[in-house]
Amino acid sequence: PRGLHLRHVCPPNGHQRRHLNHFISRADASLTSAEATPVSNDPSSTFTLAVKDNIATASFPTTCASPFLIDYRSPYEATIVSQLRARGARLVGTTNMDEFGMGSHSTHSVFGPVAQDPEGDAPIPADTSSLLSAGGSSGGSAVAVAKGEADVALGTDTGGSVRLPAAYCAVVGFKPSYGMISRFGVVPYANSLDTVGFLAREVSRIRDLIVGGGTRPGLWAEHDPQDPTSLSSAARTRCAGGREGYKFDTAWGKKRPADLLRGLRVGIPLEYNIEELDPAIRDSWARVAALLQSSFGVRAVPVSLPTTRHALAAYYVIAPAEASSNLAKYDGIRYGARATSNTTAAAAAEDGSAAAPASDAAEGGVLYAASRAAGFGAEVKRRILLGGYTLSAAAMDNYFLQAQRVRRLVRRDFDRVFALANPLHDGDADPESEPPSFDLSDLDERVPMADKRGPEEEVDFLLCPTAPTPPPTLREVLAKEKNPVEAYMNDVFTVPASLAGLPAVSVPVSVQPGGAGEAGRPGAAGLQLIGQYWDDARLLGVAEALV
Ligand code: GLN
Repeated sequence: PRGLHLRHVCPPNGHQRRHLNHFISRADASLTSAEATPVSNDPSSTFTLAVKDNIATASFPTTCASPFLIDYRSPYEATIVSQLRARGARLVGTTNMDEFGMGSHSTHSVFGPVAQDPEGDAPIPADTSSLLSAGGSSGGSAVAVAKGEADVALGTDTGGSVRLPAAYCAVVGFKPSYGMISRFGVVPYANSLDTVGFLAREVSRIRDLIVGGGTRPGLWAEHDPQDPTSLSSAARTRCAGGREGYKFDTAWGKKRPADLLRGLRVGIPLEYNIEELDPAIRDSWARVAALLQSSFGVRAVPVSLPTTRHALAAYYVIAPAEASSNLAKYDGIRYGARATSNTTAAAAAEDGSAAAPASDAAEGGVLYAASRAAGFGAEVKRRILLGGYTLSAAAMDNYFLQAQRVRRLVRRDFDRVFALANPLHDGDADPESEPPSFDLSDLDERVPMADKRGPEEEVDFLLCPTAPTPPPTLREVLAKEKNPVEAYMNDVFTVPASLAGLPAVSVPVSVQPGGAGEAGRPGAAGLQLIGQYWDDARLLGVAEALV
């Protein structure tokens, strides 16, 4: 509409192609429309923006990479898109993803999988399965940023979907505190975990937008009355206040990196040093921790987050449970593509209901079933079944309620190690907490620690890997599709911050060639910094100093 040239750039269902498949719709650079054009007055501050295809734009379809929404156009724009256009964003397109945000490799898409660029100048092969996974579910956004086709890309991060692709594609990926950035116009996956996340090549781009820079007001301050989970203005002030030096202020941003870091205590969570961690990634973790100590005057302190090992299981109960409820509205009537009479008849024949007397309700049921059978991909169906089960009367106590309990314990683990109090839970009674017990001998000796034997020290931030391994090839990912739990494992380091609603940023680090990693692997890895709730400004300052 309005002169914007639109095209779905990737054909549905994996036709042979010679591109990385990272965009779903793309604006033609020679044309503009009201929606794609920045509304900022300051031309020097414009930047290009790619938007994950589960965030509503007025100019492009919003497909969520799902057959159900393949031609869906939102009647309104997401708040975050309007906020960014007001800050100078020029929309370049919408990006490919895992359907509804469910996945870790951007392979569960009706438009086919996203791939990373081949190494060096090699041409993109027609069959991209030899290329590396871009990570997911915001893989298209990560590739758009890595290739320089967008300065900033929006993703969504429910359990790691911005941080994991950032780590795989060697860019920066930031998940803000839950409730900071409006989710109005963002298609929900699991409401209590969903956040809008940001990808860029430099931390400073993201920090400018969140904290504010020059004449631009920071996004952190903007309450959106249209999103009931967006923190009220009063709560925002309360969270930022009473924290001298920790506020969202530009003074922090003007400090030199060395000054930002001096005197900080960075926690190294022992439970993240898992057996499955790729040795090359463990090496870079140790290298950065050592560098922070020797060159920046940071203390690296071992900390224990004992509930970490249950966090992944809790996440994969809670997220599918919320998803199964959210996705109930896609039935071909209220939302989504309606199955045709042929597919409806086929579905009826399959479950024998054609023989039953055709009441309106039965016909409606068949239409729902046929639309949902055709409209969702396999991974989404798996999550709906899982969520339906864990919420059922027979399983509720053992799964959903236990997972909620683990979630509270994960948050308490974080609150115990951070020096800053959690402004949302300040002064909570803590009946379930036990004294931490952990074995320091577990720790890899190569991570030099300050004062290994002392009592547990409180810390400002946590440092850990973003993902346990470097990116696999798409061929490896597809070969393992029969065992989805393996893909879920990639999220082991990202879901704890999601469960606790904390800000976290993945920054790229090089995995040293000739290190202990698998030979010949290109060396992209991400390290993750996690901060206390609403400590986003300091977190981004530290991340910027680190890279
Ligand atoms: N990989 C995780 C999942 O599939 C996280 C997804 C996300 O953050 N959107 O649920």
